[in-house]
Amino acid sequence: MSHETAPFSGLDVPVALIGGGPAGLMAAEVLSGAGIACHLFDAMPSVGRKFLLAGKGGLNLTHAESADRFAERYGARRRQIEALLRDFGAADVRAWAQGLGIETFVGSSGRVFPADMKAAPLLRAWLQRLRHPEGERPGVQFHMRHRWTGWTDDGTALLFETPQGLQPVRAGATVLALGGGSWARLGSNGAWVPLLAARGVAVAPLLPANCGFDVALQPPPPAQGQPLPVQTVPAPVGGWSEHFRSRFAGQPFKTVAIRVEQGGHEVFSRKGEFVATATGVEGSLIYAASAWLREDIVRNGRASLQLDLLPDVPAERVRAEVLHPRGSRSLASHLKGRLGLDGIKTAVLYEVLGKDGVHDTHRLAAAIKALPLHLSATRPLDEAISSAGGVLFEALSDDLMCEALPGLFCAGEMLDWEAPTGGYLLTACLASGVRAGQGVRRWLAKR
Ligand SMILES: Cc1cc2nc3c(=O)[nH]c(=O)nc-3n(C[C@H](O)[C@H](O)[C@H](O)COP(=O)(O)OP(=O)(O)OC[C@H]3O[C@@H](n4cnc5c(N)ncnc54)[C@H](O)[C@@H]3O)c2cc1C
Repeated sequence: MSHETAPFSGLDVPVALIGGGPAGLMAAEVLSGAGIACHLFDAMPSVGRKFLLAGKGGLNLTHAESADRFAERYGARRRQIEALLRDFGAADVRAWAQGLGIETFVGSSGRVFPADMKAAPLLRAWLQRLRHPEGERPGVQFHMRHRWTGWTDDGTALLFETPQGLQPVRAGATVLALGGGSWARLGSNGAWVPLLAARGVAVAPLLPANCGFDVALQPPPPAQGQPLPVQTVPAPVGGWSEHFRSRFAGQPFKTVAIRVEQGGHEVFSRKGEFVATATGVEGSLIYAASAWLREDIVRNGRASLQLDLLPDVPAERVRAEVLHPRGSRSLASHLKGRLGLDGIKTAVLYEVLGKDGVHDTHRLAAAIKALPLHLSATRPLDEAISSAGGVLFEALSDDLMCEALPGLFCAGEMLDWEAPTGGYLLTACLASGVRAGQGVRRWLAKR
């Protein structure tokens, strides 16, 4: 008896790219540049939504510091990301933007931006080139509103939810560039984590990176027993007082410094700015320290930092000015007159030390230079700028192909690395997109 296989009724494509963020688009660019026809699927009605959002506050494409310093930003994953940056580093990002007609400039902090700071013109030019490349090369075919949900039962085809129902797609090779888990409304929601884990791909849980924190005026009790997953860390013990929240939520702490210690050693110390939120703190300086603070919360159920409210004034001078007789002046006007401390900076001293505490002049002088701020929880992953965790590099080949699923490549923020803001996120996403695209080309050539 002969068993005839029913003809495949779905779409058959040489290469499927799933996820149209910077990583997936860059993989598409490499493949289309190599003359390989590829199809890009995205769950959303249009691609690059997070990239466009990134452009709202000024699109920080990359950073102009030395390659060594740049690679250092990737911390524990330095080795793996540095290997990708060798093929496509900061200078290549700038050349690529220029190739799309977008000039870039180096800001005062070394950050690199498009001349007009925007993402939209760059994305428009990029999509135009992907759809209509020069010469004989095939254009990338885009399939919007195609949400990847896994594989067909026999595992031979990808499965997409589309407005026309479930659509199977068979691909010679596949690149997943599904992003992390923050800002889910822009498309990347982390729903891919259990899909890959079920097929034997090792994935570290997605955690908030470059995120805000809730404060606790009293240090929360240490976590008992097993470390808690961040998402289940209890709600803040206290948060800001109603008085502080109603007057200062949304206001910046301008030119302050923070210090973080782990195991008695300083692991972070920097000058900068951050903002008070309704429940705690967020902003560039906090984001920069967030990996250590999150680690402490996961491990101990709490974290703390030391806030220097006057980083440019030596401790001895602060002490001398605080102890200077103030006569009939109120403490607030004494601090303002002698040290220029006012507004949110004075308020946070009252908030943390209490009324009695601020009138203890020795304690006050010490606190102005090192005010302990306790943190009880990270803000949720959805609010974070980026995600930590993701597909472990140990589960991937050098070409970013899953060892457990030959022919399936991964790129972008869904890989297990993290970095501070400063253009490091986009650069690594683009570099991994390049590597995955090259990997697919090599894989197809071998076959
Ligand atoms: C507010 C904000 C500002 C930022 N600013 C900067 C900055 O200035 N500089 C910088 O370097 N970085 C910045 N970032 C971070 C940067 O935008 C991201 O790291 C980057 O976009 C990640 O790229 P990606 O391609 O890996 O994923 P994403 O850009 O998240 O793209 C993933 C794509 O996959 C699609 N997708 C997800 N799941 C599925 C599915 N199941 N089926 C089909 N499609 C799916 C999504 O719709 C999305 O289009 C910012 C982030 C935020 C939130």
